[in-house]
Amino acid sequence: LVALSQVNKHFGSLHVLQDIDLTIARGEVVVVIGPSGSGKSTLCRTINRLETIDSGAISIDGKPLPQEGKELAKLRADVGMVFQSFNLFAHKTVLENVTLGQIKVRKVSKSQAEEKARTLLDRVGVGAQADKYPAQLSGGQQQRVAIARALAMDPKVMLFDEPTSALDPEMINEVLEVMQQLARDGMTMVVVTHEMGFARSAANRVVFMADGRIVEEAVPDQFFSNPRSDRAKDFLSKIL
Ligand code: ATP
Ligand code: MG
Repeated sequence: LVALSQVNKHFGSLHVLQDIDLTIARGEVVVVIGPSGSGKSTLCRTINRLETIDSGAISIDGKPLPQEGKELAKLRADVGMVFQSFNLFAHKTVLENVTLGQIKVRKVSKSQAEEKARTLLDRVGVGAQADKYPAQLSGGQQQRVAIARALAMDPKVMLFDEPTSALDPEMINEVLEVMQQLARDGMTMVVVTHEMGFARSAANRVVFMADGRIVEEAVPDQFFSNPRSDRAKDFLSKIL
């Protein structure tokens, strides 16, 4: 579904992505882990073209990423993204946050968009908050709204960049549970996270990055019990 081939990117003299080859099958859940600064966020952001690349190719459904205009807006809808900071529209209600993209990009009628938004908000457990503004919600609730907003676009793939790392501990699980359910429902997902419990239980594959490279890829059991590279061993010894 998603294919990166020999992708390279620099920020000035920093070679932040180096010869990245990665393919993600439909329905697959890939967890990306690695030290700070290894390029995990940049990798995610290239997939929905929030960052351009210097060389290589990225395709979704076999088609290269569009460069601009309407096609780019459609790509951003097809590739849902949930960030560490919730990024909701502060001056719109929860319901409006979830209907806006549907109406503007997917050209759905307002009533249809609202019906779908309410269904999704119920599904992630924040249906009762529909008429509030983001600032009136807890962090965990805001993040679940952000997930509902992305899902409202019927994305082909969902990218999560440390979706729980800005949350208070008691709110982490409510967000991870929504993500677990999404994984069980067959959503294709790329998840950057430090939540190793989630990686073990939800991931089909763990991708370990260091210094802009994919150093190791394995199924979770194998990666956590028997990492091959010294970099991964070192990383795991620090976080587990
Ligand atoms: P973290 O775990 O801290 O989130 P990360 O693996 O997500 O780290 P990236 O955010 O992808 O890492 O950053 C990789 C490197 O690129 C870092 O050294 C970072 O400082 C640098 N970088 C990221 N974005 C930019 C930018 N817009 N301009 C210049 N350098 C950047
Ligand atoms: Mg990051």
